[in-house]
Amino acid sequence: MDKFKHKKSLGQNFLKDENVLRKIKDSIQVSEDDLILEIGPGQGALTKYLIEYGCKVICFEIDKRVEPYLEKYKNGSLEIIFDDFLNVDILNIVKDYHYKNLYVVANLPYYITTPIITKLIESKLNIQEMVLMVQNEVADRFTAKPGCKDYGSITVYLNYFYDIEKLFFVKRTSFSPAPNVDSAVIKFKKKVQPYKVKDEALFFKLIRDAFQFKRKNIKNNLKNYDLNLVEQVLLKSGYNLSTRAEQLPIEIFVEIANLLNY
Ligand code: SAM
Repeated sequence: MDKFKHKKSLGQNFLKDENVLRKIKDSIQVSEDDLILEIGPGQGALTKYLIEYGCKVICFEIDKRVEPYLEKYKNGSLEIIFDDFLNVDILNIVKDYHYKNLYVVANLPYYITTPIITKLIESKLNIQEMVLMVQNEVADRFTAKPGCKDYGSITVYLNYFYDIEKLFFVKRTSFSPAPNVDSAVIKFKKKVQPYKVKDEALFFKLIRDAFQFKRKNIKNNLKNYDLNLVEQVLLKSGYNLSTRAEQLPIEIFVEIANLLNY
């Protein structure tokens, strides 16, 4: 019998449903000269499918206790780094590899979903696509459209870089041990036509501020900005200063940030 003691604190809910695992693998088209990063391989449930691609795979796992389980998948193309993904110098590791396209595939530890994705984005690695298992509610937040209650600053931030799509729902019983929440697999695709923002720091601050108090409208949340300029953009598109941030599409935030950056 497997004596492995799962650590709840590390989000160790291992995926046991082979159909789900195969569906994750089939949701990206990878070739042999590509590179895949997997965060949190655990006992290798997903890793064993990823190495079938025949390309290089780098895994980051915080828990050394899973090493014996991963041993059997080791071949020339699999590298396993035992470290906290949030602490690794990802750019420095990846720069030693030659590859055509870069992919991230992971069944994420849910307690650090957003920090992991933010780190990947901020690393400036040119990631083609990410296929990630996340908590179902988080998937809804990441893929929400303007006007929905789940639409927030994180939605705008992530959708600025990627087109995000919910691929499929995964019930909690697909994991061992079963977590208290259901999950979903989502796909991030690098934007073909990125938004043109003059000052990204200003844009990100604007988003954070616009959504700061959920019940407040733009006029109140952005009271420290030049409201005449903000209003100019809003009126042009049928909104006004009484509109709430959750109603506004990314394009409007881009336009406001670019106008403020005169
Ligand atoms: N990929 C495996 C699967 O699908 O069965 C395991 C997924 S499990 C949800 C998340 C994994 O992330 C665990 O193996 C856990 O030890 C690992 N993990 C947790 N925090 C981590 C961190 N900061 N850096 C790297 N791995 C981490």
